[in-house]
Amino acid sequence: MFRELTQSLLAVVLPSNCSVCGSEIQEWGALGICRACRESVQPWEGSVCARCGLPLATTWPGNSPDYLCGVCRIHPFHFDWARVYGLYGGVLRQCILQLKFGRRERMAQRLGLLLGWVWQRQQALLELESPMIVPVPLHPSREQVRGFNQSCLLARALAKSLRRARFNPRLQVEASLLARVRPTTPQTGLSLAARRENVRGGFRVRRPERCRGRKIVLVDDVMTTGSTLSACAAALKAAGARQVFALAVARSTPQFPDASVALAAEVDARAEDRT
Ligand SMILES: [Zn+2]
Ligand SMILES: [Zn+2]
Repeated sequence: MFRELTQSLLAVVLPSNCSVCGSEIQEWGALGICRACRESVQPWEGSVCARCGLPLATTWPGNSPDYLCGVCRIHPFHFDWARVYGLYGGVLRQCILQLKFGRRERMAQRLGLLLGWVWQRQQALLELESPMIVPVPLHPSREQVRGFNQSCLLARALAKSLRRARFNPRLQVEASLLARVRPTTPQTGLSLAARRENVRGGFRVRRPERCRGRKIVLVDDVMTTGSTLSACAAALKAAGARQVFALAVARSTPQFPDASVALAAEVDARAEDRT
């Protein structure tokens, strides 16, 4: 009864609407998303590429846990492996767009919980003794326009969610370890090779001594081809990082046979590239 009372009081004090569908939120701690929308944000639980985490559209017999996608077999990434929470589409996509352009604090908390969920399902991350979380940086000119770096908000929210779960209090967020040394030209429409060339050498490690011998977890909001995360990992490894893992909230991939997802990703990427 007490709980009901506090909830109704909070509802009076903090009337709130779902930032995705606009319906009224009754529960406390919903972080701006109603239960229905929250439940529609599903993790990808199908097969993935063992290395880059690419969701695989098919599950033919013989898709083993060691299965590698075509890209990983031919042009391996610089990170050791990458994983995402879900596919870039639907409510998850709307949440990520709001992180960048709207209610960022609460949305960062919400998406940080999803990253924490991914973390707690990766044995390699659970075994890390003092992991360093590093957000993918924006170029200073873009960060100045936007006022913040969404990956940095996500990295801090992830750390907070893991600490709350009393999980690994020794993790640290190093928000300024990596720097983007030149503004990225739009990636949309470029081939994988061109995307990699576009971001190659685009990142610099500010204090290499801090990452020497360390195991680092890179954090980003959306992973598309993985070129950006790979370029970040290359810089960290060149500076002496022992292992680099990558976590993103969502994967945008035309390989997944949902044209609307791929199309939406293209449109968003274009909007993103203009900012
Ligand atoms: Zn809703
Ligand atoms: Zn792969």
